[in-house]
Amino acid sequence: MDISEILNNYGEEREMYFNAAAPPIVQASNYIFKTVDEMRESLAHEDETFFYTRGNNPTTLILQKKMAALEHTEDALIFASGSAAIGAAVMANLQAGDHVVCVRKPYSWTTKLLQNILSRYGVTHTFVEGDEVANFEKAIQANTKIIYLESPNSWTFEMQDLEAVLKIAKSIGILSIVDNSYASPLNMTPADWGADIIVHSGTKYLSGHSDTVAGVLCASAAMCKKIFKSEFMTLGGIISPFNAWLLIRGLRTLSIRMEKVAQTTPQVVDFLSKHPKVAKVYYPFSPSHPQYELAKKQMKRPAGQFTIVLATEKPEEVERFCNSLTRFLMGCSWGGYESLIFPAATLYSSQNYQTKDLPYNMIRFYCGLEEPQELIADLQQAFDKI
Ligand SMILES: *Cc1c(COP(=O)(O)O)cnc(C)c1O
Repeated sequence: MDISEILNNYGEEREMYFNAAAPPIVQASNYIFKTVDEMRESLAHEDETFFYTRGNNPTTLILQKKMAALEHTEDALIFASGSAAIGAAVMANLQAGDHVVCVRKPYSWTTKLLQNILSRYGVTHTFVEGDEVANFEKAIQANTKIIYLESPNSWTFEMQDLEAVLKIAKSIGILSIVDNSYASPLNMTPADWGADIIVHSGTKYLSGHSDTVAGVLCASAAMCKKIFKSEFMTLGGIISPFNAWLLIRGLRTLSIRMEKVAQTTPQVVDFLSKHPKVAKVYYPFSPSHPQYELAKKQMKRPAGQFTIVLATEKPEEVERFCNSLTRFLMGCSWGGYESLIFPAATLYSSQNYQTKDLPYNMIRFYCGLEEPQELIADLQQAFDKI
């Protein structure tokens, strides 16, 4: 199906709601039945009917259909946050004594899920450098149940060769989960290479307007049914009908937003790569990136997230540079309309600059929908202050 058909029409049954162009927000917690028999039937098939909104809701169902179509899977579940989707995907497929192989440095709360929570339930994990396929084979144990991937991963954007790693997972019969937030389903569809579950922070590109926290899980109908009946209904981390509606609205412009950041970001990265005050740039679509060929093979277009290391060891210069930017706003997250920086210096106390995993002169960037020359001019004036 054509992408614009999915974003504009698919899953919408306008004749059900007065042929309104935009779907209604069905702001209802429960559904009403005429007879005991009707209610009994609905309760018996709660995953397929409208019984209670912790299960299904008509507005959210439109979003589910669109997300499954975008990710080339049979079905999808929508959550209150990306972290809720990740938690449900992982927990639904593990028992005490199981082991997870996870790419090193995934999203920070994914790390905490494995290290702080699942460890309490007797689940062990191994983090592997994801750029070598053989590292996954080496880490797999007899009790490995999940291979968890995020390509590229957070902050330093190392990629995994998804086709190769997913082939290994399939051949051994280990469930694979891919966090596809970075690329969005428009730039990469891991199900094409056999990924079992694809998760998203819907907060980022899918919403696109920095006004919604949301999560998406895409998988086979059987897997979605299994998760629905366990973690989804039990932990209850569902999205509200209003936020599902905001995501549907965000999707309307996903193509043009992804196109815009694909145009802008390489120009900004090119400026930074040549700047003497920049020591290093981490961007999969930089021609100098060691995995550039893999990026081009695996992702259709460049995305807006990258990281730089400033060529200064002075904390006050790092902070002055960050504080001087005006078009790049300072804050967490990405994928919205606004360009952002997340300085690693915020992870340090102002008294202690002992280098950690992410050095204090590292800054994560996201290029939003501003014009590239405006962003470059903003960077130039901030460089002039250090
Ligand atoms: C933000 C993010 C998440 C978590 O999503 P929330 O919507 O914030 O819960 C997961 N993975 C990646 C790669 C992210 O950037």
